[in-house]
Amino acid sequence: MMPLSDRLSSYRQALLALQREQFKLQFPSPAPSIEEARFEEELQGLARWLEARFTEFSCLQELTTEIIQGSLLEEVLARIYDAFERIIPYDRIGCALLSDDGQQVRSYWARSRNQSAPLLKAGFTARLAGSSLEPILHSHQPRIINNLADYLHQHPESTATRLILQEGILSSLTCPLIAEGKAIGFLFFSSCQIGTYQALHQRIFLNIARQVSLLIEKSHLYQQVHELNQQLMQALAQLKEQSCRDALTGLLHRGAIMEFLTKMQAESERAGTPCAVIMADVDHFKQINDSHGHPAGDRVLQAVAQTLREQVRDYDAVGRYGGEEFLILLRDRDHHTACLTAERIRHAIAALTLQTAKGQPLPVTLSLGVAMCDPKALDNTERLLSAADTALYQAKRHGRNRVCSYHAGDAHR
Ligand code: GH3
Ligand code: MG
Ligand code: MG
Repeated sequence: MMPLSDRLSSYRQALLALQREQFKLQFPSPAPSIEEARFEEELQGLARWLEARFTEFSCLQELTTEIIQGSLLEEVLARIYDAFERIIPYDRIGCALLSDDGQQVRSYWARSRNQSAPLLKAGFTARLAGSSLEPILHSHQPRIINNLADYLHQHPESTATRLILQEGILSSLTCPLIAEGKAIGFLFFSSCQIGTYQALHQRIFLNIARQVSLLIEKSHLYQQVHELNQQLMQALAQLKEQSCRDALTGLLHRGAIMEFLTKMQAESERAGTPCAVIMADVDHFKQINDSHGHPAGDRVLQAVAQTLREQVRDYDAVGRYGGEEFLILLRDRDHHTACLTAERIRHAIAALTLQTAKGQPLPVTLSLGVAMCDPKALDNTERLLSAADTALYQAKRHGRNRVCSYHAGDAHR
Protein backbone atom coordinates (compact mmCIF):
# COMPACT_ATOMS: atom_id res chain seq x y z
CA MET A 1 0.00 0.00 0.00
CA MET A 2 1.11 3.55 -0.81
CA PRO A 3 2.29 5.70 2.15
CA LEU A 4 -0.14 8.54 3.05
CA SER A 5 2.28 11.28 2.04
CA ASP A 6 2.45 9.75 -1.53
CA ARG A 7 -1.36 9.69 -1.72
CA LEU A 8 -1.50 13.38 -0.66
CA SER A 9 1.11 14.16 -3.24
CA SER A 10 -1.03 12.51 -5.97
CA TYR A 11 -4.01 14.74 -4.89
CA ARG A 12 -1.75 17.75 -5.06
CA GLN A 13 -0.67 16.69 -8.58
CA ALA A 14 -4.35 16.32 -9.54
CA LEU A 15 -5.17 19.86 -8.36
CA LEU A 16 -2.18 21.27 -10.25
CA ALA A 17 -3.34 19.39 -13.39
CA LEU A 18 -6.80 20.98 -13.09
CA GLN A 19 -5.18 24.42 -12.90
CA ARG A 20 -3.37 23.57 -16.15
CA GLU A 21 -6.77 22.72 -17.72
CA GLN A 22 -5.93 19.00 -17.77
CA PHE A 23 -9.12 17.30 -16.71
CA LYS A 24 -8.26 13.58 -16.92
CA LEU A 25 -7.24 12.65 -13.36
CA GLN A 26 -5.63 9.37 -12.38
CA PHE A 27 -5.04 7.94 -8.89
CA PRO A 28 -3.15 4.79 -8.03
CA SER A 29 -5.55 2.00 -7.14
CA PRO A 30 -6.78 0.65 -4.93
CA ALA A 31 -7.68 3.54 -2.61
CA PRO A 32 -6.47 2.78 0.91
CA SER A 33 -9.89 3.39 2.48
CA ILE A 34 -13.53 4.21 1.68
CA GLU A 35 -12.80 7.81 2.76
CA GLU A 36 -10.05 8.22 0.16
CA ALA A 37 -12.11 6.41 -2.53
CA ARG A 38 -15.00 8.88 -1.97
CA PHE A 39 -12.66 11.84 -1.97
CA GLU A 40 -11.13 10.70 -5.27
CA GLU A 41 -14.57 10.24 -6.78
CA GLU A 42 -15.50 13.80 -5.74
CA LEU A 43 -12.28 15.06 -7.33
CA GLN A 44 -13.12 13.19 -10.56
CA GLY A 45 -16.62 14.73 -10.50
CA LEU A 46 -15.15 18.19 -10.02
CA ALA A 47 -12.78 17.58 -12.96
CA ARG A 48 -15.70 16.55 -15.20
CA TRP A 49 -17.72 19.60 -14.14
CA LEU A 50 -14.75 21.92 -14.75
CA GLU A 51 -14.13 20.34 -18.14
CA ALA A 52 -17.75 20.87 -19.17
CA ARG A 53 -17.71 24.52 -18.01
CA PHE A 54 -14.38 25.06 -19.72
CA THR A 55 -15.70 23.65 -23.02
CA GLU A 56 -18.87 25.73 -22.67
CA PHE A 57 -16.82 28.84 -22.04
CA SER A 58 -14.55 28.17 -25.07
CA CYS A 59 -17.54 27.56 -27.34
CA LEU A 60 -19.25 30.77 -26.24
CA GLN A 61 -16.02 32.66 -26.63
CA GLU A 62 -15.61 31.36 -30.20
CA LEU A 63 -19.17 32.38 -30.93
CA THR A 64 -18.59 35.89 -29.58
CA THR A 65 -15.47 36.24 -31.71
CA GLU A 66 -17.42 35.11 -34.76
CA ILE A 67 -20.12 37.70 -34.08
CA ILE A 68 -17.61 40.50 -33.45
CA GLN A 69 -15.90 39.63 -36.74
CA GLY A 70 -19.18 40.38 -38.50
CA SER A 71 -20.16 36.87 -39.63
CA LEU A 72 -23.60 36.43 -41.18
CA LEU A 73 -26.42 34.85 -39.19
CA GLU A 74 -26.36 31.68 -41.33
CA GLU A 75 -22.63 31.30 -40.72
CA VAL A 76 -23.06 31.69 -36.96
CA LEU A 77 -25.93 29.17 -36.86
CA ALA A 78 -23.83 26.66 -38.82
CA ARG A 79 -21.00 27.32 -36.36
CA ILE A 80 -23.29 26.64 -33.39
CA TYR A 81 -24.39 23.43 -35.08
CA ASP A 82 -20.76 22.30 -35.45
CA ALA A 83 -19.41 23.47 -32.10
CA PHE A 84 -21.94 22.95 -29.32
CA GLU A 85 -22.35 19.22 -29.77
CA ARG A 86 -19.71 18.75 -27.06
CA ILE A 87 -21.82 20.43 -24.38
CA ILE A 88 -25.48 20.17 -25.35
CA PRO A 89 -27.10 17.18 -27.09
CA TYR A 90 -29.00 17.74 -30.36
CA ASP A 91 -29.81 16.18 -33.70
CA ARG A 92 -31.37 19.29 -35.14
CA ILE A 93 -30.96 23.03 -34.71
CA GLY A 94 -33.45 25.54 -36.03
CA CYS A 95 -33.98 29.26 -35.95
CA ALA A 96 -37.27 31.07 -36.57
CA LEU A 97 -37.86 34.82 -36.69
CA LEU A 98 -40.92 36.89 -35.92
CA SER A 99 -42.45 39.03 -38.66
CA ASP A 100 -42.16 42.80 -38.15
CA ASP A 101 -45.75 43.01 -36.91
CA GLY A 102 -45.06 40.15 -34.46
CA GLN A 103 -47.99 38.09 -35.79
CA GLN A 104 -46.13 35.36 -37.69
CA VAL A 105 -43.22 33.03 -36.96
CA ARG A 106 -41.14 32.16 -39.99
CA SER A 107 -38.63 29.31 -40.05
CA TYR A 108 -35.35 30.95 -41.03
CA TRP A 109 -32.74 28.21 -40.87
CA ALA A 110 -32.54 24.54 -39.88
CA ARG A 111 -30.03 21.76 -39.98
CA SER A 112 -30.69 18.17 -39.08
CA ARG A 113 -28.48 15.12 -38.71
CA ASN A 114 -31.13 12.80 -40.12
CA GLN A 115 -31.75 14.46 -43.44
CA SER A 116 -29.77 16.86 -45.57
CA ALA A 117 -32.99 18.80 -46.26
CA PRO A 118 -35.11 19.11 -43.09
CA LEU A 119 -38.87 18.68 -43.47
CA LEU A 120 -39.50 21.91 -41.60
CA LYS A 121 -37.82 24.06 -44.23
CA ALA A 122 -36.79 27.70 -44.15
CA GLY A 123 -39.81 29.78 -45.09
CA PHE A 124 -42.36 27.65 -43.18
CA THR A 125 -44.68 30.22 -41.61
CA ALA A 126 -47.15 29.87 -38.75
CA ARG A 127 -49.36 32.23 -36.82
CA LEU A 128 -47.97 33.03 -33.39
CA ALA A 129 -51.34 33.52 -31.70
CA GLY A 130 -52.44 30.32 -29.99
CA SER A 131 -49.21 28.46 -30.85
CA SER A 132 -47.05 26.72 -28.27
CA LEU A 133 -44.41 29.40 -28.83
CA GLU A 134 -46.60 32.24 -27.57
CA PRO A 135 -46.10 31.55 -23.82
CA ILE A 136 -42.31 31.40 -24.34
CA LEU A 137 -42.41 34.92 -25.75
CA HIS A 138 -44.25 36.19 -22.70
CA SER A 139 -42.04 34.43 -20.15
CA HIS A 140 -38.77 35.17 -22.03
CA GLN A 141 -37.63 31.78 -20.64
CA PRO A 142 -36.41 28.64 -22.44
CA ARG A 143 -38.83 25.71 -22.53
CA ILE A 144 -38.14 21.99 -22.51
CA ILE A 145 -40.49 19.44 -24.07
CA ASN A 146 -39.03 16.02 -23.36
CA ASN A 147 -41.70 14.03 -25.19
CA LEU A 148 -42.92 15.62 -28.40
CA ALA A 149 -45.21 12.69 -29.27
CA ASP A 150 -47.13 13.33 -26.05
CA TYR A 151 -47.12 17.03 -26.79
CA LEU A 152 -48.62 16.48 -30.26
CA HIS A 153 -51.25 14.23 -28.75
CA GLN A 154 -52.30 17.13 -26.49
CA HIS A 155 -51.89 19.76 -29.27
CA PRO A 156 -52.87 17.99 -32.53
CA GLU A 157 -53.08 21.38 -34.32
CA SER A 158 -49.29 21.95 -34.13
CA THR A 159 -48.07 21.35 -37.73
CA ALA A 160 -44.50 22.26 -36.81
CA THR A 161 -44.42 19.56 -34.10
CA ARG A 162 -45.85 16.99 -36.53
CA LEU A 163 -43.16 17.82 -39.11
CA ILE A 164 -40.22 17.53 -36.71
CA LEU A 165 -41.66 14.28 -35.27
CA GLN A 166 -41.63 12.94 -38.84
CA GLU A 167 -37.93 13.81 -38.90
CA GLY A 168 -37.50 11.54 -35.85
CA ILE A 169 -37.23 14.34 -33.28
CA LEU A 170 -38.58 13.42 -29.83
CA SER A 171 -37.50 16.16 -27.41
CA SER A 172 -36.88 19.85 -27.81
CA LEU A 173 -35.42 22.85 -26.07
CA THR A 174 -36.77 26.19 -27.27
CA CYS A 175 -35.29 29.54 -26.36
CA PRO A 176 -36.66 32.99 -27.19
CA LEU A 177 -34.35 35.43 -28.97
CA ILE A 178 -34.61 38.81 -27.28
CA ALA A 179 -33.21 42.06 -28.64
CA GLU A 180 -33.61 45.37 -26.81
CA GLY A 181 -36.06 43.68 -24.45
CA LYS A 182 -38.30 42.60 -27.34
CA ALA A 183 -38.76 39.03 -28.57
CA ILE A 184 -37.58 38.70 -32.17
CA GLY A 185 -37.59 34.93 -32.72
CA PHE A 186 -36.67 31.49 -31.42
CA LEU A 187 -33.77 29.10 -31.39
CA PHE A 188 -34.55 25.37 -31.25
CA PHE A 189 -32.33 22.49 -30.19
CA SER A 190 -33.98 19.11 -30.75
CA SER A 191 -32.99 15.54 -30.09
CA CYS A 192 -34.01 12.08 -31.37
CA GLN A 193 -34.15 10.77 -27.77
CA ILE A 194 -36.92 11.21 -25.24
CA GLY A 195 -36.01 13.16 -22.08
CA THR A 196 -32.82 14.71 -23.43
CA TYR A 197 -32.94 18.14 -21.88
CA GLN A 198 -32.20 19.29 -18.35
CA ALA A 199 -32.01 22.61 -16.51
CA LEU A 200 -28.26 22.76 -17.18
CA HIS A 201 -28.90 22.80 -20.94
CA GLN A 202 -31.39 25.60 -20.48
CA ARG A 203 -28.73 27.78 -18.90
CA ILE A 204 -26.15 27.15 -21.63
CA PHE A 205 -28.81 27.65 -24.24
CA LEU A 206 -29.75 31.05 -22.81
CA ASN A 207 -26.15 32.17 -23.27
CA ILE A 208 -26.09 30.99 -26.88
CA ALA A 209 -29.43 32.67 -27.58
CA ARG A 210 -28.13 35.95 -26.13
CA GLN A 211 -25.25 35.94 -28.61
CA VAL A 212 -27.51 35.09 -31.53
CA SER A 213 -29.96 37.84 -30.47
CA LEU A 214 -27.11 40.33 -30.43
CA LEU A 215 -26.10 39.30 -33.92
CA ILE A 216 -29.65 39.59 -35.26
CA GLU A 217 -30.02 42.98 -33.61
CA LYS A 218 -26.73 44.08 -35.15
CA SER A 219 -27.59 42.73 -38.60
CA HIS A 220 -31.02 44.42 -38.47
CA LEU A 221 -29.36 47.70 -37.58
CA TYR A 222 -26.80 47.15 -40.30
CA GLN A 223 -29.56 46.36 -42.79
CA GLN A 224 -31.43 49.53 -41.83
CA VAL A 225 -28.31 51.65 -42.17
CA HIS A 226 -27.54 49.98 -45.48
CA GLU A 227 -31.05 50.60 -46.82
CA LEU A 228 -31.03 54.23 -45.66
CA ASN A 229 -27.68 54.72 -47.32
CA GLN A 230 -29.00 53.22 -50.57
CA GLN A 231 -32.03 55.53 -50.49
CA LEU A 232 -29.80 58.51 -49.82
CA MET A 233 -27.47 57.62 -52.69
CA GLN A 234 -30.44 57.20 -55.04
CA ALA A 235 -31.94 60.52 -53.96
CA LEU A 236 -28.57 62.21 -54.43
CA ALA A 237 -28.11 60.69 -57.88
CA GLN A 238 -31.64 61.78 -58.82
CA LEU A 239 -31.01 65.27 -57.50
CA LYS A 240 -27.75 65.48 -59.39
CA GLU A 241 -29.44 64.24 -62.56
CA GLN A 242 -32.32 66.71 -62.14
CA SER A 243 -29.98 69.58 -61.42
CA CYS A 244 -28.38 69.07 -64.86
CA ARG A 245 -31.69 69.07 -66.72
CA ASP A 246 -33.70 71.79 -68.36
CA ALA A 247 -37.17 71.81 -66.81
CA LEU A 248 -39.18 72.19 -70.04
CA THR A 249 -37.42 69.73 -72.34
CA GLY A 250 -35.58 67.39 -69.98
CA LEU A 251 -32.40 67.93 -72.01
CA LEU A 252 -29.10 68.96 -70.39
CA HIS A 253 -29.24 72.64 -69.51
CA ARG A 254 -26.76 75.16 -70.86
CA GLY A 255 -24.24 74.74 -68.01
CA ALA A 256 -24.29 70.95 -68.22
CA ILE A 257 -23.94 70.76 -72.01
CA MET A 258 -21.05 73.25 -71.85
CA GLU A 259 -19.35 71.03 -69.28
CA PHE A 260 -19.84 68.03 -71.56
CA LEU A 261 -18.35 70.03 -74.44
CA THR A 262 -15.22 70.93 -72.46
CA LYS A 263 -14.70 67.27 -71.48
CA MET A 264 -15.38 66.02 -75.00
CA GLN A 265 -12.88 68.44 -76.50
CA ALA A 266 -10.18 67.45 -73.98
CA GLU A 267 -10.85 63.74 -74.53
CA SER A 268 -10.74 64.15 -78.32
CA GLU A 269 -7.44 66.02 -78.11
CA ARG A 270 -5.91 63.43 -75.79
CA ALA A 271 -7.07 60.42 -77.81
CA GLY A 272 -6.56 62.06 -81.22
CA THR A 273 -10.12 61.15 -82.25
CA PRO A 274 -12.48 63.54 -84.05
CA CYS A 275 -15.66 64.97 -82.49
CA ALA A 276 -18.38 67.27 -83.73
CA VAL A 277 -20.69 70.03 -82.51
CA ILE A 278 -24.08 70.64 -84.12
CA MET A 279 -25.91 73.85 -83.27
CA ALA A 280 -29.60 73.62 -84.20
CA ASP A 281 -32.27 76.33 -84.19
CA VAL A 282 -36.04 76.03 -84.79
CA ASP A 283 -37.06 77.97 -87.89
CA HIS A 284 -39.50 80.86 -87.52
CA PHE A 285 -40.28 79.82 -83.99
CA LYS A 286 -41.49 83.30 -83.08
CA GLN A 287 -44.26 82.85 -85.64
CA ILE A 288 -45.36 79.60 -83.97
CA ASN A 289 -45.62 81.42 -80.64
CA ASP A 290 -47.36 84.40 -82.19
CA SER A 291 -49.89 82.36 -84.19
CA HIS A 292 -50.68 79.53 -81.75
CA GLY A 293 -49.64 80.81 -78.34
CA HIS A 294 -46.73 80.21 -76.00
CA PRO A 295 -48.00 76.81 -74.68
CA ALA A 296 -48.11 75.48 -78.27
CA GLY A 297 -44.53 76.78 -78.68
CA ASP A 298 -43.55 74.89 -75.51
CA ARG A 299 -45.01 71.65 -76.87
CA VAL A 300 -43.05 72.13 -80.09
CA LEU A 301 -39.84 72.54 -78.08
CA GLN A 302 -40.62 69.33 -76.14
CA ALA A 303 -41.30 67.37 -79.34
CA VAL A 304 -38.10 68.68 -80.95
CA ALA A 305 -36.10 67.77 -77.81
CA GLN A 306 -37.47 64.23 -77.79
CA THR A 307 -36.66 63.73 -81.48
CA LEU A 308 -33.12 65.01 -80.97
CA ARG A 309 -32.60 62.52 -78.12
CA GLU A 310 -33.92 59.66 -80.24
CA GLN A 311 -31.59 60.50 -83.12
CA VAL A 312 -28.28 60.30 -81.21
CA ARG A 313 -26.48 57.51 -79.33
CA ASP A 314 -26.47 57.39 -75.50
CA TYR A 315 -22.80 58.05 -75.87
CA ASP A 316 -23.50 61.56 -77.31
CA ALA A 317 -25.17 64.53 -75.61
CA VAL A 318 -28.04 66.88 -76.40
CA GLY A 319 -28.63 70.13 -74.51
CA ARG A 320 -30.80 73.20 -74.63
CA TYR A 321 -28.40 76.03 -75.38
CA GLY A 322 -30.96 78.88 -75.43
CA GLY A 323 -34.71 79.47 -76.05
CA GLU A 324 -35.18 77.41 -79.24
CA GLU A 325 -31.53 76.62 -79.81
CA PHE A 326 -29.97 73.23 -79.14
CA LEU A 327 -26.47 71.76 -79.03
CA ILE A 328 -25.78 68.21 -80.16
CA LEU A 329 -22.34 66.89 -79.25
CA LEU A 330 -21.11 63.83 -81.15
CA ARG A 331 -18.14 61.98 -79.69
CA ASP A 332 -15.71 60.09 -81.88
CA ARG A 333 -17.38 61.16 -85.16
CA ASP A 334 -15.69 62.32 -88.38
CA HIS A 335 -16.99 65.17 -90.52
CA HIS A 336 -18.86 62.97 -92.96
CA THR A 337 -20.73 61.02 -90.26
CA ALA A 338 -21.49 64.19 -88.32
CA CYS A 339 -23.10 65.75 -91.42
CA LEU A 340 -25.10 62.57 -92.04
CA THR A 341 -26.36 62.67 -88.44
CA ALA A 342 -27.34 66.35 -88.83
CA GLU A 343 -29.24 65.51 -92.04
CA ARG A 344 -31.00 62.61 -90.32
CA ILE A 345 -32.07 64.95 -87.49
CA ARG A 346 -33.30 67.57 -89.96
CA HIS A 347 -35.42 64.95 -91.74
CA ALA A 348 -36.82 63.55 -88.50
CA ILE A 349 -37.92 67.02 -87.31
CA ALA A 350 -39.48 67.90 -90.68
CA ALA A 351 -41.32 64.57 -90.56
CA LEU A 352 -42.97 65.37 -87.20
CA THR A 353 -46.75 65.63 -87.50
CA LEU A 354 -47.54 68.08 -84.72
CA GLN A 355 -50.92 69.74 -84.36
CA THR A 356 -52.21 72.88 -82.71
CA ALA A 357 -54.78 72.62 -79.91
CA LYS A 358 -57.43 73.15 -82.56
CA GLY A 359 -56.14 70.21 -84.60
CA GLN A 360 -54.46 72.27 -87.33
CA PRO A 361 -51.13 70.91 -88.66
CA LEU A 362 -48.08 72.57 -87.11
CA PRO A 363 -45.09 72.09 -89.40
CA VAL A 364 -41.67 72.44 -87.75
CA THR A 365 -38.26 72.66 -89.37
CA LEU A 366 -34.77 72.99 -88.01
CA SER A 367 -31.61 74.63 -89.34
CA LEU A 368 -28.33 73.04 -88.29
CA GLY A 369 -24.68 74.12 -88.31
CA VAL A 370 -21.89 71.53 -88.01
CA ALA A 371 -18.37 72.28 -86.74
CA MET A 372 -15.58 69.77 -86.26
CA CYS A 373 -13.35 69.84 -83.24
CA ASP A 374 -9.92 70.81 -84.53
CA PRO A 375 -7.08 71.02 -82.01
CA LYS A 376 -5.15 73.36 -84.35
CA ALA A 377 -7.73 75.97 -85.37
CA LEU A 378 -10.73 75.51 -83.01
CA ASP A 379 -8.82 74.78 -79.85
CA ASN A 380 -11.30 76.07 -77.29
CA THR A 381 -15.06 75.84 -76.68
CA GLU A 382 -15.75 79.46 -77.63
CA ARG A 383 -14.09 79.09 -81.05
CA LEU A 384 -15.81 75.77 -81.65
CA LEU A 385 -19.24 77.16 -80.71
CA SER A 386 -18.67 80.27 -82.76
CA ALA A 387 -17.82 78.05 -85.78
CA ALA A 388 -21.03 76.01 -85.28
CA ASP A 389 -22.99 79.28 -84.97
CA THR A 390 -21.42 80.56 -88.21
CA ALA A 391 -22.49 77.35 -90.01
CA LEU A 392 -26.01 77.69 -88.54
CA TYR A 393 -26.18 81.27 -89.77
CA GLN A 394 -25.26 80.02 -93.27
CA ALA A 395 -28.09 77.46 -93.07
CA LYS A 396 -30.58 80.22 -92.11
CA ARG A 397 -29.25 82.49 -94.87
CA HIS A 398 -29.56 79.79 -97.48
CA GLY A 399 -33.27 79.31 -96.80
CA ARG A 400 -33.53 77.41 -93.45
CA ASN A 401 -34.49 73.68 -93.02
CA ARG A 402 -30.96 72.73 -94.05
CA VAL A 403 -27.55 71.64 -92.76
CA CYS A 404 -24.42 73.73 -93.29
CA SER A 405 -20.92 72.85 -92.24
CA TYR A 406 -18.24 75.24 -91.04
CA HIS A 407 -15.19 75.79 -93.21
CA ALA A 408 -12.20 77.82 -92.15
CA GLY A 409 -12.51 81.31 -93.62
CA ASP A 410 -16.36 81.37 -93.45
CA ALA A 411 -17.52 84.84 -92.46
CA HIS A 412 -20.09 85.18 -89.68
CA ARG A 413 -22.86 87.58 -90.59
P1 GH3 B 1 -35.26 82.00 -87.02
O1 GH3 B 1 -35.88 81.09 -88.03
O2 GH3 B 1 -34.42 83.04 -87.64
O3 GH3 B 1 -34.60 81.26 -85.97
O4 GH3 B 1 -36.51 82.79 -86.42
P2 GH3 B 1 -37.14 82.57 -85.01
O5 GH3 B 1 -38.49 83.15 -85.01
O6 GH3 B 1 -37.11 81.10 -84.66
O7 GH3 B 1 -36.14 83.29 -84.06
P3 GH3 B 1 -36.30 84.44 -83.01
O8 GH3 B 1 -34.97 84.52 -82.28
O9 GH3 B 1 -36.78 85.68 -83.66
O10 GH3 B 1 -37.41 83.95 -82.00
C1 GH3 B 1 -37.20 82.96 -81.06
C2 GH3 B 1 -38.41 82.95 -80.13
O11 GH3 B 1 -38.37 81.88 -79.22
C3 GH3 B 1 -38.52 84.20 -79.28
C4 GH3 B 1 -38.89 83.72 -77.90
O12 GH3 B 1 -40.02 84.35 -77.39
C5 GH3 B 1 -39.17 82.26 -78.12
N1 GH3 B 1 -38.85 81.45 -76.97
C6 GH3 B 1 -37.70 81.40 -76.29
N2 GH3 B 1 -37.80 80.51 -75.27
C7 GH3 B 1 -39.06 80.00 -75.32
C8 GH3 B 1 -39.77 79.04 -74.55
O13 GH3 B 1 -39.26 78.46 -73.59
N3 GH3 B 1 -41.04 78.75 -74.91
C9 GH3 B 1 -41.65 79.37 -75.95
N4 GH3 B 1 -42.89 79.02 -76.25
N5 GH3 B 1 -41.00 80.27 -76.69
C10 GH3 B 1 -39.72 80.59 -76.39
MG1 MG C 1 -35.24 80.19 -84.46
MG1 MG D 1 -32.72 81.38 -82.15
